[in-house]
Amino acid sequence: SVDLSACLTGRVIRVHGLLSMVEGDDGRTWACHVRRILKTLAIDGRNVIAVGDRVWFRPGNAAGDEGMIEKVEARRGTITRGYRRREHVIACNVDQVLIVSAFAEPGLKLPLIDRYLISAETGGVRPIIILNKADLVDTAPFQWVIGLYTQLGYETLVTSAATGQGIPRLKELLGEGTTAFSGQSGVGKSSLLNAIQPGLALRVREVSDWTTKGKHTTTTAELIRLESGGHVVDTPGLRQFELWGVDPGEVEAHFVEFRPYIPLCKYPSCSHTHEDQCAVKDAVHWGQIHFGRYESYLKVYAQQPIEGE
Ligand code: GDP
Ligand code: ZN
Repeated sequence: SVDLSACLTGRVIRVHGLLSMVEGDDGRTWACHVRRILKTLAIDGRNVIAVGDRVWFRPGNAAGDEGMIEKVEARRGTITRGYRRREHVIACNVDQVLIVSAFAEPGLKLPLIDRYLISAETGGVRPIIILNKADLVDTAPFQWVIGLYTQLGYETLVTSAATGQGIPRLKELLGEGTTAFSGQSGVGKSSLLNAIQPGLALRVREVSDWTTKGKHTTTTAELIRLESGGHVVDTPGLRQFELWGVDPGEVEAHFVEFRPYIPLCKYPSCSHTHEDQCAVKDAVHWGQIHFGRYESYLKVYAQQPIEGE
């Protein structure tokens, strides 16, 4: 064990090769190397340090802006890319992810929302559904979508970056903890960021361009502190994460509305795809489970890509 008495604590906000930029709890930014012993502890090639890590570091030089990371705290809430053993943590200690969709241009894609919900839950991150561009349509015919996801227990918020609808609540949500964005390009993620803090998305773009000189551009991320409190996670293009590492047998656990029916299926190992006397399929037939949600289940179960990914 290491002596941590002379160490400061902080959070990794950027990683540049072997250097980690740490926002110290003292409010200063430190450029830190990682103690070699920590590297040997990394399992299966997983990155030793990820954006969002809480670390203990020993201040190194007289100037007081360099340090050595001695300890990395256990991670929760991760956003990952890659497959199982080669999983790469893009960001960790993320509290919530905003799953952004647009009523129009390009239009709501519920299978994609379902997919992102599973990704978030797999990583232990709370999903929040954002339905943006409310100014472009009459939202009344879409009330059932809001009802559907709200009933499933997901916070669902209607916004417009153009008119400011829903922005105060969004600001409130972002004010605490660390938030990541996901959703197809063009749904308005950058616009929402700018509605919360003018110039924020621009800053994100500059950072992204700067870090894309070189390689591994898709996995670089940055933690940005909001003026109103809280942090947002950015990756170039704000695309965020993919769904990986979910075994077919684990998929049903992400469909909360299946739960009452699963014990009633004839076969204990029922996959709810082709079996007879499947209570989940019956519930779909009788309208107790939304058909679109069941379709999403089938796609994810079969590990099929979803349009828009
Ligand atoms: P991103 O790719 O998800 O970051 O999407 P952008 O923020 O770049 O937005 C894509 C386009 O949609 C831009 O032309 C925005 O001006 C527009 N847009 C974003 N949000 C809204 C909105 O709430 N209403 C309307 N009418 N347009 C929006
Ligand atoms: Zn079944």
